[in-house]
Amino acid sequence: MNTKIDKALEVVKFIENAGGTAHIVGGAVRDSLLNIPVGDVDIASSLTPQEIIDLFPKVIPVGIEHGTVIVRYSSESYEVTTYRTEEGYEDFRHPDQVEFVRTIEEDLARRDFTINAMAMDQKKGIIDPYGGQVDLKKGLIRAVGKAEERFREDPLRIMRALRFASQLGFTLDSSTFKAAGEQACLLEKISVERLAVEFEKLCMGRNSQENLGTIQTLKVHHYLPIFNHYPSLIEIMPMGKLSGFSEIISFYLEKGPFSLAITDWTKDWKLSNRVRRNASILSTALQSYKEDPLPVVLYSLPECLLQSFINVLQAAGQTVDASAIYKAYQTLPIHSRKELSIQAKDLIHMFPERKKGPWIGEYLSDIERAVVSAVIPNENKAIKEWIKKWNPPETD
Ligand code: ATP
Ligand code: MG
Repeated sequence: MNTKIDKALEVVKFIENAGGTAHIVGGAVRDSLLNIPVGDVDIASSLTPQEIIDLFPKVIPVGIEHGTVIVRYSSESYEVTTYRTEEGYEDFRHPDQVEFVRTIEEDLARRDFTINAMAMDQKKGIIDPYGGQVDLKKGLIRAVGKAEERFREDPLRIMRALRFASQLGFTLDSSTFKAAGEQACLLEKISVERLAVEFEKLCMGRNSQENLGTIQTLKVHHYLPIFNHYPSLIEIMPMGKLSGFSEIISFYLEKGPFSLAITDWTKDWKLSNRVRRNASILSTALQSYKEDPLPVVLYSLPECLLQSFINVLQAAGQTVDASAIYKAYQTLPIHSRKELSIQAKDLIHMFPERKKGPWIGEYLSDIERAVVSAVIPNENKAIKEWIKKWNPPETD
């Protein structure tokens, strides 16, 4: 039934046939037990990275010092990591010491939550030393071992607890919740990049609202960029999922009373230029939605941002008919200026007495808008007549 798991078990068998042991671990085990789509399948093994490199024809060495390589097998990629423990997180980034160990049980002990600390063997047997399956049934995020110690070891786990709660619709077990609140201040040590990954996943989760609420309750937002300077921003609740930082930024710009610029967000959260550009396109479209006809708004959006536009509108509390928006997008008379039946050279030809200048671009914008909102058809003749009517040649 689960072809992703079955394919990965071929890699597991391959390793075992070569004399090693191997297991599927982490998120893939959790998600397959929950019967939800499995993302990347990670494998843990007794073999060292070098032994894996020698065993498989195609291996990409991505993190040998942490015991991790990527194995390409039957057109798929698998992260294969040597069973290991971790010690000390002095720099709060990477464990200071990675020690390779012999058994899967020792490896599972380093993992963050019981539901993430299960392994699957080649016969699909589940190894579950911390009661992960019971917690899956109860819908609980529970730290492996003492929550307080585990959060001190790596405070990012506080954010991870909230993002798994959001993604799975789970709640934090009471001692994990308590420790998260008590140790939230340690998040100060965590790099922005690691925080960004978890915050983005939290906002995409089905229970994002509730867990943004928990962020506020536990005062975790005091250690998140932007929110640390504008703590009351966390009170503004998105009414739906936000998929990625472009959407997150345009949502808070739309709803927030603060004069925050997109670049404040991208700088503090260390986000890419692509995120900045997309946030800017979305914010402009949201503004235009208040004053322009829908086709004009949709025309300003690349197709890849249409869903983002819908997401932000919904998060901002607007009732949106997504399928109507998609239909309106598909039935736009044109999707780019290139498709206009008139081009700059036609305009120059029409007004030979005029010097080339910005007026050409301005005319094309006016024509574009008129065609997009169906004031005129996208026909060369009709457009020319419309121009002559509204823009008679100037007599200097
Ligand atoms: P997703 O489907 O979102 O990728 P995942 O469970 O695979 O979920 P990852 O962040 O990819 O999450 O981590 C893979 C596994 O590695 C986790 O399931 C967990 O067992 C372990 N892990 C990851 N980060 C940590 C951490 N900071 N502390 C302890 N264990 C961790
Ligand atoms: Mg993963």
